[in-house]
Amino acid sequence: MMLELQDVTSFYGKTPILQNVDLSVPEGSCFCVLGKNGVGKTTLMRTIMGLTTRITGKLSIAGQDATSQPTYERAIAGVGYIPQGRGILGKFTVRENIQLGTFASNDAAHGVPPLCLELFPYLAENLDKRAGHLSGGQQQQLAIARALATDPKVLLLDEPTEGIQPNIVKEIELTLRRLNKEIGLTLILTEQHIKVARELSDYFAVLENGRVVETGPIAALTDELVERHLTI
Ligand code: ADP
Repeated sequence: MMLELQDVTSFYGKTPILQNVDLSVPEGSCFCVLGKNGVGKTTLMRTIMGLTTRITGKLSIAGQDATSQPTYERAIAGVGYIPQGRGILGKFTVRENIQLGTFASNDAAHGVPPLCLELFPYLAENLDKRAGHLSGGQQQQLAIARALATDPKVLLLDEPTEGIQPNIVKEIELTLRRLNKEIGLTLILTEQHIKVARELSDYFAVLENGRVVETGPIAALTDELVERHLTI
């Protein structure tokens, strides 16, 4: 397994937010975490990165126990993270934003990885543009490029299509599909668009109140289940 959580409870301060979560993400798969607002999706991402106060249970990355590893060691172990809102530095150029990612990789040269240029021709042509001048979709591409520059084995994406124009959502989806199916990168994402989740993912889990209430292969995500757990 690329990532495994066994009976993980994750705290902010003294409050348990995620509770007794079991999750297995096979190498090379795309795993989608679903649920209404406030159920703990972002907390799950942050838990995997080691960004909550503490956890109980066991978390392994690529077969290695990572339960008590600090965040930077998880990054070195191959976990890339694109937070909600993307965290792009608007005053820095496209190139500088991508280079930030290389500082978490083993590449001492800190160049822009060829894969980023190949995947995102627009970024390749605008390396010296200030990131703040890019559109939402272009900034999401930049966030993906920066995460790829860390040379991850598994990429966590928190709401990658949030706030992106509908016609660009498809483009982001195609990029993620390429990363997953052609390059073999394991993906874990949270997603509001059920259609995107269904088209991309191999597996899903639905959270409610910090607990996994449904999980399985994506074919088991029936309309009835969506209606029951995900309709507002
Ligand atoms: P989702 O991503 O599904 O919208 P979150 O993981 O952001 O949900 O939040 C889950 C719960 O954790 C919410 O009740 C929220 O108020 C709480 N929470 C989120 N971040 C913090 C924090 N830094 N400190 C304390 N509680 C938090």
